[in-house]
Amino acid sequence: MSKKLALLISAVIFCLCTGCAVNPITGEKRLMMISVQQDFEIGRQYAPEVEKEMGGRIDNKSVQNYIDSVGQRIARVSHKPYWDYHFVALNHKSINAFTLPGGYIFITKGMLKKLTTEAQLAGILAHEIVHVVARHYAAAASRETSESGIMVLAAALSGAKVPAGALRAADLARQIIGLRYSRKDEREADLAGLDYMVAAGYNPYGTIESMKMLEREDAVRPVEFFSTHPDPQNRLVYLRGRIQTRYGTFGGLRIGKEDYRKFVLEPLAKLKDSKKPD
Ligand SMILES: [Zn+2]
Repeated sequence: MSKKLALLISAVIFCLCTGCAVNPITGEKRLMMISVQQDFEIGRQYAPEVEKEMGGRIDNKSVQNYIDSVGQRIARVSHKPYWDYHFVALNHKSINAFTLPGGYIFITKGMLKKLTTEAQLAGILAHEIVHVVARHYAAAASRETSESGIMVLAAALSGAKVPAGALRAADLARQIIGLRYSRKDEREADLAGLDYMVAAGYNPYGTIESMKMLEREDAVRPVEFFSTHPDPQNRLVYLRGRIQTRYGTFGGLRIGKEDYRKFVLEPLAKLKDSKKPD
């Protein structure tokens, strides 16, 4: 047997024995210690915890329905259009957006108030959808030690014994939110996110605008989004490059300034300030 063939066979056996998964965006195989089924279970169990930790849902149907409709529109053109996706606007003043395993995507009131168009919102949600589709959190958690919250969770879900007190819901929720993806994964979320939003009919410059907004805000005070995301400068360069080379002509794509004002900014301005600490 040739050395190459032997290597190939051992790679295949390795992948079958451990949790190897294919990234549908790149076709790349990756070691994943958490199954897709576990993703969904973790999301279902911990989404309510995350909501509680982050000030609860914004109590306004118009805002929630609008965020969900923009998110679903993009999710349907993703590589995993038949998964269940949940888009939730949180009543929290931080400027942030993040993802829980299993298609749970959150965006904060602080972030929503700083955006001005539907295309900007689409850019943020598309980026998070890529994290879901490519299961970046599973890759990040698998890279970390077996003590990491998400690994403990996965172990518990598969019936293994975990140390007492290791599953404190609020702590785990915080750990999942704070997972840092690799730079490579963030770049993939940026670029594939651009493809998704254009496929869903949105003007890709929305992403550039939201990135610039985050950069401006970060100069005033540290923006929470950057505690888990790389610096925008670099990202703006490759995003602009991709738009110019791939989407040189994109006349007619949606910006949605008026709708964003009507369905998000106006209802948010009318909301009474939450009494809960945020
Ligand atoms: Zn990201």
